[in-house]
Amino acid sequence: MTANLILEDVYTAYDKADVLEGVSLEARSGEITCLLGSNGAGKTTTIRSILGLTPPRAGNIKFNDAALTGMATHRIVGLGMSCIPEGRKVFPKLTTEENLRLGAYQQTDEKVIQQRIAEVYEIFPRLEERRDQLAGTMSGGEQAMVSIGRGLMSAPKMLLIDEPSLGLSPLYVKENFKIIQRINERGITVFLVEQNVRQTLAIAHRGYVLSKGRVVAAGTPEELRANEEVHAAYFG
Ligand code: ATP
Repeated sequence: MTANLILEDVYTAYDKADVLEGVSLEARSGEITCLLGSNGAGKTTTIRSILGLTPPRAGNIKFNDAALTGMATHRIVGLGMSCIPEGRKVFPKLTTEENLRLGAYQQTDEKVIQQRIAEVYEIFPRLEERRDQLAGTMSGGEQAMVSIGRGLMSAPKMLLIDEPSLGLSPLYVKENFKIIQRINERGITVFLVEQNVRQTLAIAHRGYVLSKGRVVAAGTPEELRANEEVHAAYFG
């Protein structure tokens, strides 16, 4: 199951001004690659560019052998890409299990759906206990689990995760990162966008730092921690 993502010199704009100004990066198959950066650096825009939600105006994006540039979002998703959006968007009036099912909307075989739900419950036993609870009545940490679980229901090759630690208590942040690591160990390539530098570098294999729409540093967690500018900006 390969899931290699490459961005080459990507420029993306919403109106006139470019938000991404020539972003190049690679998320290698089987690894956790992180994209770090402060508010407004362009992290979410990078995810939107990959998914074709805000198509880049220049540059190339490749997923395995497919060129994603110009491809419709549903086709990109169909190649094995799944996104867990910022802010843990759950459907509040639907139960846990109904939320999960929505993640498998492209799947019609009920047996396969049941199998995937069982796999999600294996990763998150708490969700099985709360399978009939309305998602909107669950805690922030539990909603994060529903959101990740829903992202897994399409059996993706690659998961794009946008700021999973945002607004979560430290305990849930820790648990969430452990879960991302376990999901990666099951063979799913992860592209993780985060502001929480320390905890992200603790689980990532490789990382990039984005500032004002440009990659300003790249390397292994050790290399990034040793980079003086990164150190001053995030560990100072
Ligand atoms: P955050 O951590 O705050 O989510 P980010 O690194 O994900 O930040 P982006 O959301 O990619 O940053 O935003 C980068 C820039 O693009 C910001 O200046 C933002 O105001 C702008 N921007 C984002 N979305 C839009 C949009 N839909 N229309 C116009 N400008 C946008």
